[in-house]
Parts: sequence; C-alpha cells; structure tokens
Amino acid sequence: MVSEYEAVVVREAFKLYLQHQQASVVSRLLNETGRKTKRYEAQRGATRAARKWTTQDVLRLLRSSLYAGFVPYGDEMRPGEHPAIVDRATFHQVQDVLEGRGPGIQYHWRNPDYVLRGLLRCGMCGEAMTPGSTRKGTREYRYYRCVTRDTQGKEGCQASPLSAAALEDFVVARLREVSVGGGFATQVHARLTSRLEEKHKALRAERVRLPKDLARSAGESAKWVDSLSKLEGPSRRLLEQKRTAAEEESAGMKKRLAEVERALDAMEGEKLEAAWVAQALADFDAVWDALTAANRGRLLQALVGRVVVDEETDSVDVHLAHAGESATPLREEVAP
Ligand SMILES: [Zn+2]
Repeated sequence: MVSEYEAVVVREAFKLYLQHQQASVVSRLLNETGRKTKRYEAQRGATRAARKWTTQDVLRLLRSSLYAGFVPYGDEMRPGEHPAIVDRATFHQVQDVLEGRGPGIQYHWRNPDYVLRGLLRCGMCGEAMTPGSTRKGTREYRYYRCVTRDTQGKEGCQASPLSAAALEDFVVARLREVSVGGGFATQVHARLTSRLEEKHKALRAERVRLPKDLARSAGESAKWVDSLSKLEGPSRRLLEQKRTAAEEESAGMKKRLAEVERALDAMEGEKLEAAWVAQALADFDAVWDALTAANRGRLLQALVGRVVVDEETDSVDVHLAHAGESATPLREEVAP
C-alpha cells in the first residue's frame, strides 16, 4: 500500500523531473523541501529508516511502473487492480525523457524479441497466447503460453508453454516461402494502399461533414434558448433536456473532429509504413536477417493476421493478413 505522504512525494518527483529533466536536481529539491524516502520493511523484519534522497532513489522511483497502476506480468506490464498515483501520460513522458527519446515517440514496455506478440491463439481453448520467459543460470528461455492455462491452470486449458524461438522460426519460414517471386509483396502493397485510400476518403468526408453538423446543432440550440424564456413547467424542463442533449452531441462532434484531424495527419506515416512493409517483403529473405527485433515485430504485425497453435493436433496455422478471403491457411504439422 502506498501512503498518502508517499503519493504526494511520488507526484512531486514526477513533476520536478519533467521540469528539470535531471534526477540529481530532483533529489536535491526533494531534500531541500525536507522530503524523505519511504521506510522499507525489508525481509526478515529488518527496516530501513527513511532518509535523504539519492539520485539512484529518484531514478528507481521514476522507473517504477507500479506508480502508474501497472503490475509485472511475465515479461510485460499490465494494468493492475491498484489505483495509479501518476497518470500514464505523465509516466510515459518521464520514461521517454529517461530513455533519451524525443517527444511523440511512443514508449514501449515490451520486450521487442517477442515478434509474435498479439498474433498467437491457443487452438485448444481459443484464447490468446502471451510471452513469458524463465531463466536457468545465465540462459534465458523464451516462450509463449496460453492465457487460460496461465490464469486457471491445467483445469482451464491443457496447452503447455511453447518455445518462442521455434514458433517464430516456423512463422518466418512460412513467410520466406510465400514471399518467393515477389507476387505476394505486390498483393500486400495493393491491399494496404487501397485500404489506406478508403480510410483517407472516409476521414476527408467526415472533415467536411462535421462542421456542417456542428453549425446546424448550434442553430437549433440557439432557437431553444429563445423559446425557453417563454416557457414554464414541464414543457420548459423538456426543452432544457433537449438542449442538454444537443450540447452533448455538439461536444461529441467537436471531439470527433479533432480525432479526424489527427488521423489525417497520421496518414502520411501510415502510407510510408505500407511502402516499407512492401519493400521489406519484396526482398524478405535477405531483409529479415538484417532487421532489428522491433522492426521484425513491426513487419510481422503487418503481414500476419493470426497464428493458431493447436497442441492437441500438433499443428500451427498461419493466417496471413493480406492473403484474401479465399486463401487457405498455411498449415503444417510440427514436431513437439
Ligand atoms: Zn489454451
């Protein structure tokens, strides 16, 4: 549990860090205002007394995702049950500064090595599979495990954790096969481009329509305001309700308009991304080995719709994202 005092100090530390961007400055300022570190209840009942802040203390505090309401889950962080002390936007902003990233670049929690994250389904229960790892000595073993099995045990699902490397190699081998010849790259690019064009068209139409709707709604509200002064009793209440509803609708439309503008701004980036995917795919065999883990993940997220792993039948079905409706999944028996 986090005490009220600790919560105040934590928020202060985050705020000061965003102002000064130096942990040493934050520790100095906290000490100057008489703030103390938390008393630690160490194992075996020993306690560490509250003391002055060091730079290391501040860095530890700023990096603690618990304060943003997350809990560790395997190799990732997930939203926890406990309330957040600092909002996530502030927390991510601080992580960006700590990591030396510029503004606007999204902070990723995630270990980029798990390139199939989010794409895997357990064929036995239909649930997602999630990354995890164990350590034996200096070696790390990565795997993907069924969420049902993970949360409910063997009674929930029988599927056992599967070697991440083996699954990843398998999916990549399938992609190497389909990318031979370059036809697939062309197909993917065509699909990505047409999907983006549709999206662009819909957004532009919305940008034209929303201001008109807003003007109409504002006009109606103004009329009601005029009538309100002449009304009494139930009819007045009814009209007030209508006006409130119209105002809420207007607020919703304004919010949507801002979203549309942002989405239109982001379209250039999405077009570049589509071009990058097509390019990488055109020379997949050579390009794959040269990509960073993060970019490998990015490419797989774009190309693979879903991978269903069925331990019972020893099979892995790779559904491609752009193979079209009629395509059959690339299915293969795998040795355990
Ligand atoms: Zn399962």
